[in-house]
Amino acid sequence: MDFDNLCVFWSFGMHIFKDSLMMEKWLLFNLPGSTETSLKTVLVVSDGLGDHPIPSLRGKTPLEAARTPTLDKLADEGTTGLVHVIAPGIPPGSDAGHLALLGYDPKSCYTGRGAFEALGAGISLQPTDIAFRGNFATVQSTRGKELRILDRRAGRHVPEGDELAKLVNRLSLPSSPDIEVIVKRTAEHRCVVILRGANLSQKIGDTDSHSRSDYVQKSIPLDSSEAAQYTASVVNELTREFHRILSASPINAERRKSDLPEANIVLLRGAGTLPEISSLKDLYGIRAACVAGGALYKGVARSVGMDILPVPGATAGYDTNAEAKAKAAAKTLSKHDFVFLHFKPTDSAAHDKNPQKKIEMTEKLDHLLSTLQSAIDRENTLIAITSDHSTSSLTGKHIGDPVPLLINGPRVRNDVVTRFSERACANGGLGHIVGKDLMPILMNYVGRTPKYGA
Ligand code: ZN
Ligand code: ZN
Repeated sequence: MDFDNLCVFWSFGMHIFKDSLMMEKWLLFNLPGSTETSLKTVLVVSDGLGDHPIPSLRGKTPLEAARTPTLDKLADEGTTGLVHVIAPGIPPGSDAGHLALLGYDPKSCYTGRGAFEALGAGISLQPTDIAFRGNFATVQSTRGKELRILDRRAGRHVPEGDELAKLVNRLSLPSSPDIEVIVKRTAEHRCVVILRGANLSQKIGDTDSHSRSDYVQKSIPLDSSEAAQYTASVVNELTREFHRILSASPINAERRKSDLPEANIVLLRGAGTLPEISSLKDLYGIRAACVAGGALYKGVARSVGMDILPVPGATAGYDTNAEAKAKAAAKTLSKHDFVFLHFKPTDSAAHDKNPQKKIEMTEKLDHLLSTLQSAIDRENTLIAITSDHSTSSLTGKHIGDPVPLLINGPRVRNDVVTRFSERACANGGLGHIVGKDLMPILMNYVGRTPKYGA
């Protein structure tokens, strides 16, 4: 290890590596040869769990207002802290937030959301592929030949989505016949779109207006490279082809007849490429698995080499089968060293600006943990519970406030905190950490973080 090249600085009471690639290299070359332990780890991420104090809850956050006996007991017996997932004050996106919680520095390895959605949808990406998130949408041609957006989501309910995706999957672009176009529907009105071919760049703008404009946007190059200019022109031609083919489809004739908005275009956003990162197996020697409902989380998990467990009833909605997820996570610990369990509804309730729903979903999380802890071998399992960001039930948006963290397990020092909440965890034994420091902390408890120095 070259000490001159290592930059450490004092931040939030602990040393952290300034350069995550350096951190990755250090881990790769110093992985313990034989692990001294067979301790297992479960990391539960409740999406958007932190919140603002809510006036209608008399200044409590939904987490403080919820009845959470299991979370409180785990916090009481374990250690706690606050996590600034990306950095203090930065509101994280879910993809970047999860990368950070899994030990990667999103500032150096985040390559756009589209790639994670595609991986989560089960598509194997090649390093030069450009992946987008897509929406089937409703547009209308105007005299100026611009396409006016009538509904960004084509009414949200698009049961013919699979058939529509087939119509445009593998379509041939007149000006770029050597570019392969892959379209796969994921859920409702959503799909993923992959461009495969030479000289493509992810540095291009979206065609989705994100409700900021009434018109389909022209994709523009975001840097001066030829590849970006070329890719933007490919995307604009592709958008015209989407509209031409989908408008002529009998499916849309039927939707018109039934007074449903036509799904006559695919709007694209979040261009991304496969991130070049080492797997958790390479970094820590662990076999890791993921239990999640949403494609994005499965995609992030796949990008770091996790096995994705199919769990019936596990969705990203309020109706997700929390019991089934907990049981599946516990069961797979016989085959895996590390399980990442994702719970989405806490974030959704905050996006819906519904603090009461968030309380209800936080209590559902508590039941999940009750099932989980009685299904695992507590003597030999570390449980960590945190979130990828705070989401405000007041504004409906992700915010940069830190999230609570608790770690409970056989070798964990006990701190003075007896409850699991944003306020209580501010007094925790772990203090304040940044997201990418969580994995080394967890792996230290299970004897898998290598020694630094001689
Ligand atoms: Zn999230
Ligand atoms: Zn969110």
